[in-house]
This record gives sequence, C-alpha cells and structure tokens, in this order.
Amino acid sequence: MSTIKELQQRVGEINAANGWRTTNEAELDGKARVNSQITRLALITTEVAEAIEEIRNGHAVDETYYPDAHPFAVGTGAAPFKPEGVPSELADIVIRALDAAGAWGIDLEAIIEEKLAYNITRGHRHGGKAV
Ligand SMILES: [Mg+2]
Repeated sequence: MSTIKELQQRVGEINAANGWRTTNEAELDGKARVNSQITRLALITTEVAEAIEEIRNGHAVDETYYPDAHPFAVGTGAAPFKPEGVPSELADIVIRALDAAGAWGIDLEAIIEEKLAYNITRGHRHGGKAV
C-alpha cells in the first residue's frame, strides 16, 4: 500500500512521462499562471461530471466495467482494459488532485492530516448543516 505522498510522486512521474508536465506554472506570468491553475481545478470537476453520468447511465456506484481493450497497452504488460464506472472516476478525481498538488508543491498528505485534525473538532453536522 502506497502512502498519499508516494501516490502523489507516482502521479507526477506518470503524467510527466505522458507529456502533461511540460509547463512549469511558476515560470508563467500572472494571467497565464492563473489560467493554468484554474484549468487544473476545472478538470477535477469534469471527473465529478463523469461520475454523475455513470450513475445517470444506470451504473451502480460500486460497479467497474471494461468496455474496450486499450490499444496502446496490448503487449506492454500494462492493464489492457480501461476501467470505467464511478470507482474509476473517483480515482480520476484523486489523481487530478494529486497532480495539481504535486505541480504546485503542496504536500497533500500533510494538509489532509491537518484538515482531519480540524474536522474532528467541528461537531455534529458541522454546527447543524442539513447536508
Ligand atoms: Mg475520468
């Protein structure tokens, strides 16, 4: 089992190998940097939308299915089928969050621990919120 820190490192390495880490946002000027940051966050919401569509299409939230063989994986030893379904989209949400954190120099594992330590103090339904 990997730690969140290890997963964050792997996500960065895989995304770099796949050509997604070609721009160092810190080197961009103001508007370009902000646009890049917003794009990263917007792409997290696209994964949420994909999860919603899975449910709308009748898939159970715990269902993983494999519609097509991945043509680039055949013969490489990599998983030949792309997993689809809500579990896969939840993974994509986490992967994109880890990628953003890695690109921005954020230790996501540390901030998750910090947030959990805070959340435990928030009380029942965070002060009576309905949802
Ligand atoms: Mg997805």
